[in-house]
Order: sequence, then structure tokens, then C-alpha cells
Amino acid sequence: MSDTAIPENSTPDLVLTLLGTGGPLPDAHRAGPSQLVSAGGAQLLIDAGRAVVMRLAAAMVPVSALDAVLLTHLHSDHITDLSDVITSHWVTTFEPTPLRIIGPVGTERVVHHLLEALGPDICYRMDHHDDLAQPPLVEVTELAVTPGSDALVDVAIAGVDLMISAAATDHRPVEPSIGYRIATPRGASVVLAGDTVPCDGLDALSRGADVLVHTVIRKDIIAQIPIQRLLDTLDYHSSPEQAAQTAAGAGVGVLALTHYVPAIPPGDDAARSQWRDLAAAHFDGRIDVGDDLHRIELPISDSTT
Ligand SMILES: [Zn+2]
Repeated sequence: MSDTAIPENSTPDLVLTLLGTGGPLPDAHRAGPSQLVSAGGAQLLIDAGRAVVMRLAAAMVPVSALDAVLLTHLHSDHITDLSDVITSHWVTTFEPTPLRIIGPVGTERVVHHLLEALGPDICYRMDHHDDLAQPPLVEVTELAVTPGSDALVDVAIAGVDLMISAAATDHRPVEPSIGYRIATPRGASVVLAGDTVPCDGLDALSRGADVLVHTVIRKDIIAQIPIQRLLDTLDYHSSPEQAAQTAAGAGVGVLALTHYVPAIPPGDDAARSQWRDLAAAHFDGRIDVGDDLHRIELPISDSTT
């Protein structure tokens, strides 16, 4: 991790924004899982959970500015508003501009069916707007990661001067699932784990990263709820303790938790502290338990540590 302090008012090398910090259950205060990485003039959206387009608006980033959408896996809570991203990107670009979507095997099929479902809307708009001469242009790249492997796969995005790599995570029986590492030429790096239990792929991806964004659930609480459908979620997510162990093993600078299940109620600082304390028992570094639109700028300046 870089320990270089940046002068006030200087432009960050990379900005990570937690757009949505909620989980699968609807929450009045948290959008579904998604993050924005802004670096080198590029805007990369990682996952597209519920209300992602609203959160992008709040972050002052138009959907038309997205260079690519990177999907960690195809669970509905991570992709439910991909349809909105596709449509909003289409109607707010005025030159034919492909929306690039990168994800695990299966992404192509999901996008194909989304476009099919949008068929009537696409016809209405093209009939009505003479200058909307083509349907949404979407370019899908499926990444061939090998479940169980710690191999890193390079991800190239034309016109984007960032080093992006992917690795298999372990969210079985959801397979394949992918984590991403995004690094700038100057060395700022962030890892987006998505949903996973600790695994070799995530360890390899996270080694020495400035920030690890990790979805988590409170297994100590969920395990006490006698609802089988909730209990089923215990074995394929990480607890804050497990996320912290991964962060410590990889030597990351900041662990940013997200996807709080159960949700942290607004203003409940005691609950927020509990999440942090569970992680802090296993990780000495900075732990962020942020809300929607929480930002981390890299390199870390002294004033934000
Ligand atoms: Zn999932």
C-alpha cells in the first residue's frame, strides 16, 4: 500500500465509490450491491444491484460515461438493474456507443434475454425518435476463470489505461463467480471480491492491494434465525471475520465491508461498531463500514486515515 500523502486539492489516482451497500432484501436506505471505480478518466461499474442508476446519479456520474460493467456473478441482487443500465446508457448516448459488459460464463445469455425483454420498449423508442437509429449496442465478454484456481486472468478494455485482472472466487453452488482487481499505472489498486468464502483466487487477487471491498453477512446473527432459506446463505458468504482474515493474509491497506445482512439501521453506531469490531479482531488495518456513496480516494491521504 502506498503511504504517500497527497496534497489537498490534488486529483486522486483512483476513486472507489460504494454505490449500494445493501443485500438481497429490499431496504429503504441501501441500494443493492454495486461499486464504481473512477480512475484514469475511466468509469467502471462493478455489479448492478437494485437502484444502481439512482446511486450513479447521486455520485454525479452519468450512465453514458460508463466504460464497462464488470459482473462478479449472476445472482439477481447483483444484476437486477442491469436492464436499467442498458436502457439508460442507450437513450443518453447520441453516437452509437457500445456498452461493454464483462462477466462470468452465462453473462451473454442473461444479456440476450434482457434485450429480448426490452424488445417492446426498444421498438417504441426507435419508432418515435428518428435519431435513435439502432437498438442498444452491447458487447459482452465472458471471462474463462477456472473455479478453484488461483490463476489471474487479464481483462483488456479498449481505451481504458488500467490494469484489470480477474480470478475465480468461491460462491458455490453459484459457479463461476469472479473477483476483480483494478490498478492504475501509478500503482493504486482496489479489489472487488463480490460474494465469496475465503479462497485461493481471492487471496491471489488481493495480495498487497490498497483496498479490498468484500461482501459480508453476520453469520453469528443469521445462524440464530430459524428460517431455512436464511440459514442456506451461511455457507457461501463470508462473515466480517472471514473477510478480515483474507485482508490480513493478503496484506491489504483498507478493508471496505459492504452487503450488510442484516442491514445496519441508519444512525445505529453501536451496530456499525459491532461489524467493525468483529473484523478488527483479525485485521490490524483500516476497516470501513460505509453507507451508500461512501468514497475512498487513492492514494490514501493522512487526513482520511
Ligand atoms: Zn451472490
